Amino acid sequence: MADIKLKKLKTKRYKCLDCGNSFKGIGRRVICPSCQSENVEELN
Ligand SMILES: [Zn+2]
Repeated sequence: MADIKLKKLKTKRYKCLDCGNSFKGIGRRVICPSCQSENVEELN
């Protein structure tokens, strides 16, 4: 079942420190979808 693999990749919520956009991201290198900044912080 391919779906199981996808569910293991947890999406985390991030907030861009440059433009204030909040979004969901996967992985270690997360880029703001709005301004492409890497200056983001993880929200818990
Ligand atoms: Zn941004």
